[in-house]
Amino acid sequence: MSDTVFGKIIRREIPADIVYEDDAVLAFKDINPQAPVHVLVIPKEPIPKLDEAAQKHQQLLGHLLLTAKEVAAKMELERGYRLVINNGDEGGQTVYHLHVHILGGRPMTWPPG
Ligand code: 5GP
Repeated sequence: MSDTVFGKIIRREIPADIVYEDDAVLAFKDINPQAPVHVLVIPKEPIPKLDEAAQKHQQLLGHLLLTAKEVAAKMELERGYRLVINNGDEGGQTVYHLHVHILGGRPMTWPPG
């Protein structure tokens, strides 16, 4: 089983500013925010990256996305926000525990860097 800094956050071995938690997912503020609001939503099951998600994770992935929507509302991002999943090295992924970035509080540009 892979372990990462996010596993340590789930187990409360290192601190994080947690904004939502239930049995299946955890949401906390990014330590290096790229926007006024930058929250990460992660499954508690340590799926390393989206490519390694399987059919059995269908409900969990849906829950992850719906949680992101709920957290965005909680963070008062009614003007809009961006969700990002970086997958693999060339996708810019640095922590190999699947996570959804919620970015908001400023206008987003396209294309991303
Ligand atoms: P990735 O580049 O894998 O898509 O995103 C990983 C994110 O995790 C980065 O935005 C990075 O700032 C964040 N991060 C890395 N280590 C920690 C940590 O210890 N605590 C928190 N809250 N965020 C972290």
